[in-house]
Amino acid sequence: MSTPIRVRYAPSPTGNPHIGNIRTAMFNWLFARRHGGQFIVRVEDTDRARIEEGAVEHILNGLEWLGIDWDEGPRVGGPYGPYFQSERLERYDAAAERLIASGNAYRCYCTPERVAELRKEQARNKQRQGYDSHCRHLSDSEREANERAGLPSVVRFAMPQSGITSLEDAIRGHVEWQNELTDDFVLIKSDGFPTYHLAVTVDDNAMEISHVLRAEEWLPSAARHVQLYRALDLPMPQFGHLPMILGSDRAKLSKRHGATSVMEYRDDGFVPDALINFMALLGWSLDGETEVMTVDTIRDNFTLKRVGKPAAIFDLDKLQWMNGVYIRQMSVEELAAEILPFLERAYPDDLLPVDREYLLRIVPLVQERLKTLAEAPDMLSYFFEDELEYEARSVVQRGMDVPGTLAALQRATDDLSSVDASGFCHEHLEEILRAAGKELELSGRQFFGALRTAITGRTATPPLFEMMEVMGQERVIKRLAAAVENLSAA
Ligand code: GLU
Repeated sequence: MSTPIRVRYAPSPTGNPHIGNIRTAMFNWLFARRHGGQFIVRVEDTDRARIEEGAVEHILNGLEWLGIDWDEGPRVGGPYGPYFQSERLERYDAAAERLIASGNAYRCYCTPERVAELRKEQARNKQRQGYDSHCRHLSDSEREANERAGLPSVVRFAMPQSGITSLEDAIRGHVEWQNELTDDFVLIKSDGFPTYHLAVTVDDNAMEISHVLRAEEWLPSAARHVQLYRALDLPMPQFGHLPMILGSDRAKLSKRHGATSVMEYRDDGFVPDALINFMALLGWSLDGETEVMTVDTIRDNFTLKRVGKPAAIFDLDKLQWMNGVYIRQMSVEELAAEILPFLERAYPDDLLPVDREYLLRIVPLVQERLKTLAEAPDMLSYFFEDELEYEARSVVQRGMDVPGTLAALQRATDDLSSVDASGFCHEHLEEILRAAGKELELSGRQFFGALRTAITGRTATPPLFEMMEVMGQERVIKRLAAAVENLSAA
């Protein structure tokens, strides 16, 4: 019987999860779901100084928002808990004691000052920096004396000082390291908490993790982990190190490449399915070609074989394009429901509550152009505002003057006022306004440009006649009147 697939996402609650963290979570989740396995969330909160309050909630909310569900972990529990490393300290202590007993680890009494001084000296001498194994060679009596004196200590791993450590990585293939390049790293810190290396090894084993899929930045640490598995005589999981994510300038991803935390993407108006689709392509591909895929397609086809080694490039333009694709695929009702909270957050009280029926009629006019939900408040504001703010003279089009423009606006007002309310539909409006434009001897660009600016205060808008129909007779006429008044006074 093959071992069941169990994978984990092991965030450290040291801040908001960035796109790389979430991509790691998502690849693990896809892998678990593809193979009918379990996806576990384990919180690695052993670096007490770096813990940020609220980070765990933030991480979990981000996963939930994306629809990445977990089978075991915080909020859901599970048979391998606790799922917070800070609640599992006795397990790490026990492992450290075992390693000491078998001669694979030792207590180190060197002060932080000595270790820092050592590094400085190594730097001065252009030597490789690392602990010099000083306490590995203490005699029993020296050790006892240190203990009797109550000296604080850490536990260090006795790393083999020659030979190589190798790994068959599911993504990177054969990887090997020279042992002499890894120093005797710390397992238990002076505050009694384990280091990442010990905790991750103990927990991946205890939680029966079958595949450790994590970011490439952890590949160098894998040499230590392989040695720990060996020394603890534990079966090793399959490792797979996911490719790095770089900005489009090939620099490490940072704030200037766009939002960094997953909830910021939500606030910036990205939709979960678009983000999932986009992130899937950061290192994985279906066939090297297809870009837009449902999450079901991604999941049903997700294999590590199709995860590449080269760094993936994070392209914000592509994410925006993809988000637009997903926005266009929504029904009008769905999109209106997604847009509504953005309007409610952005608009002043006097524009609220937003008329839902009106919004449902506006949405089809902008659905094509919207790349993110967050663009909606600005893109739609003139539909809702009572008084538009714009430069009165901007209504005057090239080749026209103020009196001519006023006459054109007046003519449109008269014609539109005479339309029967039930006939205020875009086909009819187009017909009568085209005829009026001809009589006024104005080009379409001039007449409709003047009307567009008068009605919206802008030059780029959805199609004029459809827009007028949605705004309704009363609103359109009111705006034309305001434009006449403002332009006369200008
Ligand atoms: N706690 C590590 C992190 O925050 C997890 C590394 C791993 O998955 O082994 O990235």
